[in-house]
Amino acid sequence: MTALDQVLQGLDKTTAWQEELYVQLHRNPELSMQETETAAEITRRLESFGYDVQQIGGGVVGILRNGEGPTALFRADIDALPVEETTGLPYASTKTMADRAGVTTPVMHACGHDMHITAGLGAAELLAGNKGLWAGTYVALFQPGEETAEGARSMVADGLVEKVGPIDIALGQHVLTDQAGHVGTHAGPMLSAAASVKVVLTGKGSHGSMPHLGVDPVVLAASIVTRLQGIVSRELSPNDFGVVTVGSLQAGTKANVIPGSATLLINVRAYDEGIKAKILASIERIVRAECQASNTPAEPTLEVYDEYPLTDNDPDQTAKVTAAFQAHFGADRVDAMDRVTASEDFSIIPDAFGVKYAYWGFGGFTPDQTPLPNHNPGFAPAMQPTLRTGTEAAVTAVLAYLGKDA
Ligand code: ZN
Ligand code: ZN
Repeated sequence: MTALDQVLQGLDKTTAWQEELYVQLHRNPELSMQETETAAEITRRLESFGYDVQQIGGGVVGILRNGEGPTALFRADIDALPVEETTGLPYASTKTMADRAGVTTPVMHACGHDMHITAGLGAAELLAGNKGLWAGTYVALFQPGEETAEGARSMVADGLVEKVGPIDIALGQHVLTDQAGHVGTHAGPMLSAAASVKVVLTGKGSHGSMPHLGVDPVVLAASIVTRLQGIVSRELSPNDFGVVTVGSLQAGTKANVIPGSATLLINVRAYDEGIKAKILASIERIVRAECQASNTPAEPTLEVYDEYPLTDNDPDQTAKVTAAFQAHFGADRVDAMDRVTASEDFSIIPDAFGVKYAYWGFGGFTPDQTPLPNHNPGFAPAMQPTLRTGTEAAVTAVLAYLGKDA
């Protein structure tokens, strides 16, 4: 029996408390960078397993030192979303909480981060309970604020690298709409780089009947929205991937008033930081030129926010993790994943440590379910075999680096 098989013999014991914890977390989601109770729960559990625990930048890091050997970090994100749950599950969230602007909003674990926490804690206990079967140092990292692209940066800014010390590899996973019981890996760019841009246009207000006395920001904004469609279709190579979406366009209050300003919120995705930069430069050029064409009385303002880096899996590390998955799960449960256009701030952590990383997906839906995408108010992954698979995947990947057979 391999060291991995021996460690995973403990799964039946962890599954009992994991299912209870999953229900508890799902009922008590917390918004990004406000995960106080979640972090306290994680801290309590890690301490009870014997980890050296630190709270860093709103997140929690548990370190387990186990003799000579490499250091592997496994990251789970812990935040929820301002979404009103419609799953109808017996443990559905009915929670509301005040966001950082003080506005009360429904909250839901609509991205499955409760699954990530529970699997991460299960792996933490299994590794702590089987120290004879591996060697080195295990770092269990629980990150806040993934949904707002703040959490990884917040932990790094709070001294993560200095407080943890050098590591050799970073690992992470996400529950997706694929089949429960399966894992999926992808070498190279796996999740897109993203950024959002807030554009404020200044026009000149007027009476709706006297457009010649104003500068109409509605016509200007409409022209910008149309023109932006040409970036991907006319400026990028057909071989390159990019998305430009205007998700919000706000101006005016009344039919007979030409407003003084308009605001656009634009979202950008790419699988290459250079292409992302090119798209952002094109947006700025088009916005400024259209303002000039409209003869606006002031320059527009452009503010880039919610910037996510590219998630670019190292091919060698991904091959190593994929081989470990195939040996454990069997090749028929390890899928070659397509690139996903969504984004993650995970890679900020390995980049800060200067190490390579492998990030993979695991399925959350049984064949009798119709999967709804992450962030949908009806997103309801099947508790099992999803939780078990996420826990097994975490332990399998970690032991590919730290296991006695590694
Ligand atoms: Zn999400
Ligand atoms: Zn997520």
